[in-house]
Amino acid sequence: MADAGNKKPPMVDGNSLVAMCLARAGVDKMFGVVGIPVTSLANRAVALGVRFIAFHNEQSAGYAASAYGYLTRRPGVLLTVSGPGCVHGLAGLSNATANAWPMVMISGSSEQSFTGRGDFQELDQLAAVKPFSKFSAKATDITKIPKSVFSVVDWAVAGRPGGTYLDVPSDVLHQTVDESEAERLITQALNSRNEDVIQKPRVNHSEIQKAVELLRTAQRPLIVFGKGAAYARAENELTKLVESTGIPFLPTPMGKGLLPDTHELAATAARSLAIGKCDVALVVGARLNWLLHFGEPPKWSKDVKFILVDVCKEEIELRKPCLGIVGDAKDVVGMIHKEIKDDPFYLGRSHPWVESIKNKSKDNVAKMEAQLVKDVVPFNFMTPMRIIRDAILGVGSPAPIVVSEGANTMDIGRAVLVQTEPRTRLDAGTWGTMGVGLGYCIAAAVASPDRLVVAVEGDSGFGFSAMEVETLIRYQLPVVVIVFNNGGVYGGDRRNPEEITGPYKDDPAPTSFVPGAAYHLLLEAFGGKGYLAETPDELKSALAQAFTARKPTVINVTIDPYAGAESGRLQHKN
Ligand code: ADP
Ligand code: MG
Repeated sequence: MADAGNKKPPMVDGNSLVAMCLARAGVDKMFGVVGIPVTSLANRAVALGVRFIAFHNEQSAGYAASAYGYLTRRPGVLLTVSGPGCVHGLAGLSNATANAWPMVMISGSSEQSFTGRGDFQELDQLAAVKPFSKFSAKATDITKIPKSVFSVVDWAVAGRPGGTYLDVPSDVLHQTVDESEAERLITQALNSRNEDVIQKPRVNHSEIQKAVELLRTAQRPLIVFGKGAAYARAENELTKLVESTGIPFLPTPMGKGLLPDTHELAATAARSLAIGKCDVALVVGARLNWLLHFGEPPKWSKDVKFILVDVCKEEIELRKPCLGIVGDAKDVVGMIHKEIKDDPFYLGRSHPWVESIKNKSKDNVAKMEAQLVKDVVPFNFMTPMRIIRDAILGVGSPAPIVVSEGANTMDIGRAVLVQTEPRTRLDAGTWGTMGVGLGYCIAAAVASPDRLVVAVEGDSGFGFSAMEVETLIRYQLPVVVIVFNNGGVYGGDRRNPEEITGPYKDDPAPTSFVPGAAYHLLLEAFGGKGYLAETPDELKSALAQAFTARKPTVINVTIDPYAGAESGRLQHKN
């Protein structure tokens, strides 16, 4: 028998070392699908206190990781198997990068010694992720794991947040080092963590002064903010700036809630007027892309002066604003507010610009309310949306996180649903990504356990990842999924008779699903409860029960397939 002195030191394998490094890097949640070669990695991470949310499909898990990064400001981590798992995960990785959200995708990969010979699930994964990640690393042996893990985590949040990728070959996951060597490697990697990567840009005071001068001398100033400002947690600074100057504000869809939609200076309901007539626009953490009509006529005035605040220098170089400030939204807005405080100005309620926005808003809100108050059955989009709006508002604070996708469902939901708190809206985003709903719901529930999560989505959006309702039930997440069921994309078959021709003319239309699909029954397969709602009373009762129970629920809302428009509000693009 060997005596204690000859005992071999405990060994750490690649799986454990990745898990240890993730935990050291502050990762507390992981989303993914396990299988060869990453199952042990997930188990080791759980043993070290990382919550692993196991999905059915890497696409949904990836969407969850992307939204988790946005909501928590720490990278959401997606774990996938090699080859096809990695390819499925690209949906989430690309979505994170498109939305400027921090996310790390970690994939196992095939054995290095077989490269190029057709190994199990072999793929050049570094090449596959290249267009979708701002940084990637491959741990080609176990000693490279710590530095690789810390680098992908740091790069995901550095500068403009985005997706990063870590590749760990299966042979590396099975290599071992002894425990003290593992600790040494971790310490060494922690010490060489690149501080430059994590540091925020320094803002020049003269730029702040210029911004203040532009705002001060504007006739019709506007403050626009987007999900970059939400990510930066700039809500307090923006509120102070808006309220101390009286400048109207316009949030982008996911900027909604940084200041409440009900704020008297909200220009949301007067959007066309606000962007069409403003002469100086301070745009904070929002790109002048398609969502903001590229900042160009005819939607914007040709003379508008943009002050762009963005953490990304390239973004400012691309848009060529009148004034660009590279910096963190919270910092820059705080500095602008402070600079104004020394020599304040305030537009006041009777300022013609403020008044015109307020009047226009009032008119538009009244017009919409006139539509909303009607109880239309079979349901159009407005009636159930009003009932849902009122139920969500009834929850109070902390406000539910609303997840929204679909064509008409998302467009109408954006106008009707009221956001009162920051980062409480997740939607199809910069890419118009459909199929994000269930993944976003799961991320939101896990990131904010004190909040109810309410998804309002089309039947088409729901269908992308409907099997993840099992994930909701397995983890007992407080998520209420409301499916606007109009029998397909845009509401089923909308073709003109002359378009229905050819040998397959009797097939269902490309936009059609089975009419009257009983989506609420899906949950029963897993022991959950669903509701069918075809009338206002049925919907109100289902919402009341689901919001009280805070259990995974699907409410299947029957919508008239002829309500709504093809392509929602983007008809010109289809
Ligand atoms: P939206 O869809 O709401 O219009 P975008 O995703 O188009 O928003 O724009 C968000 C912008 O915010 C991106 O250009 C990104 O670089 C920027 N951004 C991200 N984080 C910060 C931050 N901390 N401070 C300032 N800007 C940021
Ligand atoms: Mg539909």
